Amino acid sequence: MKMMIRNGRIVDPSLDFQGQKDLLIENGCFVDQFDGPPDRIIDAAGLTVFPGLIDAHCHLREPGQEYREDIVSGTRSAARGGFTTVACMANTIPVCDNAAVVRSIKDKAGREGYTRVLPVGAVSKGLKGKELAEIGLMAAEGIVAISDDGKPVESADLMRKAMLYASHFGLRVISHCEDLSLAEGGHMNEGYWSTILGLRSIPDISESIQVARECLLAEYLNLPVHIAHVSKRRSVEIIRQAKANGAPVTAETCPHYFTLTESACKGFNTQAKMNPPLGTESDVAAVISGLQDGTVDLIATDHAPHHADEKELEFGLANNGIVGFETALALGYTYLVKAGRLSLIDWLKTMTLNPARLLQPELGTLRAGRPADAVIVDLDHPFQFDRSTMLSKSRNTPFDGWELYGQVRWTICAGRVTYE
Ligand SMILES: [Zn+2]
Repeated sequence: MKMMIRNGRIVDPSLDFQGQKDLLIENGCFVDQFDGPPDRIIDAAGLTVFPGLIDAHCHLREPGQEYREDIVSGTRSAARGGFTTVACMANTIPVCDNAAVVRSIKDKAGREGYTRVLPVGAVSKGLKGKELAEIGLMAAEGIVAISDDGKPVESADLMRKAMLYASHFGLRVISHCEDLSLAEGGHMNEGYWSTILGLRSIPDISESIQVARECLLAEYLNLPVHIAHVSKRRSVEIIRQAKANGAPVTAETCPHYFTLTESACKGFNTQAKMNPPLGTESDVAAVISGLQDGTVDLIATDHAPHHADEKELEFGLANNGIVGFETALALGYTYLVKAGRLSLIDWLKTMTLNPARLLQPELGTLRAGRPADAVIVDLDHPFQFDRSTMLSKSRNTPFDGWELYGQVRWTICAGRVTYE
């Protein structure tokens, strides 16, 4: 199978390249040339071609919660959003804390998925935070990191052991930072809006205290740690300082943390309920400044599908989280690039090159010889995001009806068209 993507404007941070260029694909990889005519030509005139996006943090819900999402629906939704690789968290049922679950996810994704799926294994057995999971056996099956995401690792000693043990397999820990003694029972960020709405709240330091702990552990052990879904000003400041001290810390944020504030909870809107909770305007400004100076390395979706029945409840009872695959590209492009906060190439790094470095360094590039992962996007014409058209099984998003730029026209994963 030979494919040509022609007339497109190419933007590739890994090659530091922006300009007109035709792309050639043969046998699933980019090539400099091939013999004979292409089997398929995609005309990208007026469109922009990026390396396929990489999501370092999502929840595909399989095994165990297929009424919310499964590997097929989740990766179809991801492909529609321009993703070609996604890393899925371990809080499935059963928990992905052993080799058999890792294998079953990889097998199903390999057979039926629309993106590459990189499983993240659990830090602790059953996500219980008591004893380490079978990290070595999971590493042999191809996990790309370990995380108890959804829950924090409460014990600093277990976190230390996890970082040490993971390092033997070239893996790092992805930390969901939350001090449960501060957060438990809270439903939104502590401040003006929690007072107005009369909701039990979570202080911002619930996140930042554990961010500080992970940064100290990384510095003390000189071992890497990756901080998931950074949402608060104090956390950004702590990570910035740790990086300046040379600690091997990386961090991600999510589109909702640079596009929404806690005021989105107005009217008890459960589509704005998430963990960590949406912050203040000063938190949003800090997250953006963290993306600008590289304190925050990458943007992940934290795609967290929930059934309508788990969201259309009173605020205190509704589940945390939103879907994110089908809005991440457009939210980033519209609110960071078009709004003049980041250059196109610096924003694109956060969704291609930087997550590739974290998870699978040969990906996230249009370089010849590498897997042919690309997304072809219309950056010029606005579109109205309509959640009823989503390919995810779940529709829990606060972005319904938003006017955005950056609509995906084609996604190509390993040389195969996965969305058009
Ligand atoms: Zn989390």
